[in-house]
Amino acid sequence: MSLVSQLRLRDPLVESARQKLAAGDHLTQPDGIRLFDADVMELGRLADAFARDKHGDRVFFTVNRQLNPTNVCVLACKFCDYAKKPGAEGAYTMTKEQILSHVDPEITEIHIVGGLHNKWRFDDYLNIIRWVKEKKPDLSVKAYTAVEIDFFCRLTKKPVEWVLTELKNAGLDALPGGGAEVFSERVRRELFGQKIGGQRWLEIHEIAHQLGIPSNSTLLYGHIETRAERVQHMIDLRELEMRAPGFFAFIPLAFQPGTTGLVRRQASAIEDLKTIAISRLMFDNVPHVKGYWIMLGQDTAAAAINFGASDLDGTIGQEKIAHAALAKSPVGMAEMGMVQMIREAGKTPVQRDALYRVIREYPLEAATAAAASA
Ligand code: SF4
Repeated sequence: MSLVSQLRLRDPLVESARQKLAAGDHLTQPDGIRLFDADVMELGRLADAFARDKHGDRVFFTVNRQLNPTNVCVLACKFCDYAKKPGAEGAYTMTKEQILSHVDPEITEIHIVGGLHNKWRFDDYLNIIRWVKEKKPDLSVKAYTAVEIDFFCRLTKKPVEWVLTELKNAGLDALPGGGAEVFSERVRRELFGQKIGGQRWLEIHEIAHQLGIPSNSTLLYGHIETRAERVQHMIDLRELEMRAPGFFAFIPLAFQPGTTGLVRRQASAIEDLKTIAISRLMFDNVPHVKGYWIMLGQDTAAAAINFGASDLDGTIGQEKIAHAALAKSPVGMAEMGMVQMIREAGKTPVQRDALYRVIREYPLEAATAAAASA
């Protein structure tokens, strides 16, 4: 019997959601919107039970490195503090040597995303994958958001299938989930009118899944979007996963206001935890909801482990994008820091690669025995 079936909750909104999920039904958009007004601790209990029914007490992380090869971008999304125009102060384009210096011996995954460079051809983006794979053939390469894939289609005048197949032949293992922002035309028109909208993002990921390229999905929240738009975004992803399964994780990304002037401050920790928990319950068919500590901050990410998050992303190395928007988290975290954070939440750390193959488990009993003999 599932933990969700056994739970009894006092908050009527959460209890009603629990009953639907226990019966195998999906939550609707009004259900999701109402849950934002529910008791946060009750919401956490239900999301935690839902995550435990999928993964027991295991929480996944990866020893990875983020590579942002260039911040030069032909677009100018209003919420982006990272991109620079060609030749502007602070604009950079890495050399092959700089790119390869990110391929540390201990990492098992590299996450590659960056700007839409005005001078680069598709081959330049392919070469980055080829170089890192040549240096470390067993490395899992998660690279290029749907925004970049669409850009490559326009550069080459080829369809998505062709572009993705070329990337796969060069060594691509999975797509990251960035660039989704919020699947709302209203928000797109206001904040990133030149960039692809929800339909195109969903189309690209659907084709990737059909070609056997798994991917992640994201939501950028805490700016001008409404809760209804946030919840609808989760439903759109849930429906794609039903049509063309292939998502590993859903990553709610807390907007970093930086110098954008869009909002005065980042969403509160309570709003973060509610969003994580509601994501877990709404997007019920995605294997993992990720607590992305770079944007949540370490304390909120640690709490998210008991609010439905079953993945913490990774050690990251030198993150540039969120830190360009003044994220307060450290730029990287050591492997044992990640293990400790998960253990302190009472769960079992599991190191994985980009394809969620288990590399190492860190059983709780071993930690307890070590502490007792110290
Ligand atoms: S969000 Fe992406 S596409 Fe938009 S300006 Fe920033 S780097 Fe360019």
